[in-house]
Amino acid sequence: MKARAGRHFLQIPGPTNVPERVLRAIDRATIDHRGPEFGELGRRVLDGLKEVFKTRNPVVIFPASGTGAWEAALVNTLSPGDQVLMYETGHFAALWQNLARRLGLDAEFIPGDWRHGADAAAIGARLAEDREHQIKAVCVVHNETSTGVTSDIARIRKAVDDARHPALLMVDTISSLGSIDYRTDEWGVDVTVAGSQKGLMLPPGLSFNSISDKAVAASKRGRLPRAYWNWDDMLASNRTGYFPYTPATNLLYGLDEALHMLREQGLDEVFMRHARHAEATRRAVRAWGLDILCANPAEYSNALTAVMMPDGHDADHLRDVVLKRFDMSLGAGLTKLKGKIFRIGHLGDLNDLTLLGTLAGVEMGLACSGVPHRIGGVRAAMDHLARPMSEAGAVEQKQRHAPAPAAAPQ
Ligand SMILES: *Cc1c(COP(=O)(O)O)cnc(C)c1O
Repeated sequence: MKARAGRHFLQIPGPTNVPERVLRAIDRATIDHRGPEFGELGRRVLDGLKEVFKTRNPVVIFPASGTGAWEAALVNTLSPGDQVLMYETGHFAALWQNLARRLGLDAEFIPGDWRHGADAAAIGARLAEDREHQIKAVCVVHNETSTGVTSDIARIRKAVDDARHPALLMVDTISSLGSIDYRTDEWGVDVTVAGSQKGLMLPPGLSFNSISDKAVAASKRGRLPRAYWNWDDMLASNRTGYFPYTPATNLLYGLDEALHMLREQGLDEVFMRHARHAEATRRAVRAWGLDILCANPAEYSNALTAVMMPDGHDADHLRDVVLKRFDMSLGAGLTKLKGKIFRIGHLGDLNDLTLLGTLAGVEMGLACSGVPHRIGGVRAAMDHLARPMSEAGAVEQKQRHAPAPAAAPQ
């Protein structure tokens, strides 16, 4: 690669751009993770995470990618052969199911079309059939990063309750936590799985489990082998701010700073900013005359937008042109969507002008690679962003809180 001037645009839906403040925080000498200074840092980040997860229960931190936290959620609570109900929202849901199968779980998949979120009614119906309560856990991806579709977790909680089913509820928020409103305790989520490199604005390398009392109780019965991921050791050490093995100390400096930033901005403001940017992006896509992969507007993701390519045009070619000409990385279509879509990440540390630069890069890329489209996407986004904040946010807020439409046909 030849040397380039200016900053690379990393507009994939994770890893996201790491703010300067977080980079500076990480850039410090590593301290003794058994010394007194570390204990204070440990307690501070462990407490701070609870605000972001919206939980009063413990959140544990693993030095691992998000995949590790998926595994931790399952091995701590379940036994070999246990039935687990999962919902096929897209590529990440499929990976989690695959991981569950490798662990020796009986992971059932409710099929989906990769354009809709998890259907609460279908989950409820399946649970209602399970009179013997063989299903031990329901696992859902909150924001399906491969498709740009957000599932309604409160509704899924209600479906589980209405079926009077005791299964644990586990939710992957790897690409939503810190970007899209999410409420562990209010929604009765037993294990929330998260990662560092998306809405939390950190480099990859940390992942998280929030653990409800019910999940702790399940962990006492669960018989899957667990060692590295064992919650017991982690929770015991965390009480004083320490870890059972060497933590990713420098990433914890970064986490401390990222939590400060989220607190300074205020979570509600952060969610509103993501909503504005997502709405501006969708307006750009529509102005180009292209389609958004998410088929249900009530489920549009505020973290990313997946854009469908016109027939006969390859999204990976477009991404290649955008990278070479404009030094911007866009998200690829994964597995069955390869070449058919590209994904614009608009989560994490992002402001209006970064978003407009991103959209300009896409619009120029469409032109350079001969993809049929109309000009004016960037203009449409500017018009949205130039409105008074309250007005621009209100449009999106109204959509989010509109009564959910009847289950969309799959
Ligand atoms: C990124 C992502 C993952 C995978 O996380 P890794 O850190 O790559 O292991 C899982 N689920 C979702 C929803 C994601 O966005």
